[in-house]
Amino acid sequence: MYTKSPATQNDLSGNGGAVVHIGAAVRDGGGCRAAPGAVAVRREGGIARVLAAGPVDFVRRAAGKSAIFAEHPDRLLMPGLVNAHTHLELTGIGPQPYPGCFIEWIKLVRSHWPNPSDLLDPVNGDYLQHGAAEGARLSLEAGVLTVGDLTRHRQVYRAVAESGLRGVSYIELFGLGPPYDQPALERIDEAAQESQVGSMGFGLEPHAPYSAGPSVYEAAARSALPASTHLAETPDELRFVARGDGPHRDLLIEMNKWRDDFAAAYAADRTPAQWMQPYLVRKPWTLAHCNYVSDEDLALLAGHRASVAYCPRASDYFGHRDHRYRDMLDAGINVALGTDSILCHGSLSILDEMRCLYQRDATDPDTLLKMATVNGMTALGMDPKNATFAAEATPGLIAVSCDGEASDALKQVLSTALAPEIEVLESAS
Ligand SMILES: [Zn+2]
Repeated sequence: MYTKSPATQNDLSGNGGAVVHIGAAVRDGGGCRAAPGAVAVRREGGIARVLAAGPVDFVRRAAGKSAIFAEHPDRLLMPGLVNAHTHLELTGIGPQPYPGCFIEWIKLVRSHWPNPSDLLDPVNGDYLQHGAAEGARLSLEAGVLTVGDLTRHRQVYRAVAESGLRGVSYIELFGLGPPYDQPALERIDEAAQESQVGSMGFGLEPHAPYSAGPSVYEAAARSALPASTHLAETPDELRFVARGDGPHRDLLIEMNKWRDDFAAAYAADRTPAQWMQPYLVRKPWTLAHCNYVSDEDLALLAGHRASVAYCPRASDYFGHRDHRYRDMLDAGINVALGTDSILCHGSLSILDEMRCLYQRDATDPDTLLKMATVNGMTALGMDPKNATFAAEATPGLIAVSCDGEASDALKQVLSTALAPEIEVLESAS
């Protein structure tokens, strides 16, 4: 771990003065690029607001004579990263081998899950809460300062809010229809009355078309809260949505969550994106995964301002190949990056997701940085400017170890076999 310079440490109390961080290079997803480079911030109430960023001399002048300087040689300075789709509460379970079948994987996760009645039990409550707190700690350690987190549990929401992360806690909602959808519908009503804690707000997440039905999606679409869902993740999901049968129906029957009249909502041979259309027209949704989408689906998602949260290493873990994220970007879809849960690959690092895509697909580094910052904020319904070094923005600031001699520090960071070291210099919340 890189050690903060004395100037940085002395100023952590936040005295309102300018701090100029000077690194081997500076880069954001909004076009700021300089090597060497600097970022000047003014700390107010624990939040660092950008004064200027770019070439060192320019930033020095903008910061004024009273500024404090902190040198970070061999470090690339970037805004805090955004994880648009994660399940921090599962962190306590740890990495798990894939059982080779998605339905078996759902059962594996459920086997670790406390019964709803047990959630009143302080032991099980602590289990989830500690997992979320650990997940938040690992996120911050990886330079992720903003998250779209998924949970059903209030203690998890509070643990994430108290961790120093900002973002959206999406409330997971289940139930294909009455009576199984009743708790979800009541929860949506309650969420509208609840106020946010710290820098985490609420969102709604009907879990997926095979686990939440039209009544839940409709209520989420009507709400003013941000909305997300898992979509087009597996061939089994496509089959269930198109015909109402297959392994997902069998699982619902096994769980006593199925009634035969539910099948009517899944009988028109639609794709998941087409199934979502009545809800997509109401607001911009963030759709996790989208591993299986047609050209027509892409046009539909682009036309309804949907975002996609792509989780590259999780997709690989589940055996999905040839994700169309570049086609999605070309179609004008806002594609953000997520890690999904720690079960899939043992990491909550968005930089590792960027490195995966650069090393696998040679995707343009600036595109990856935009996906990991600006696009993530858009997906969460937050101001994308606040993941850039634009004046007055509040992106936080991270320092990533790099070869100070390299001509392109970002490309060098994405190319290395070993994960770079990351330090959070300024928080975003
Ligand atoms: Zn997920």
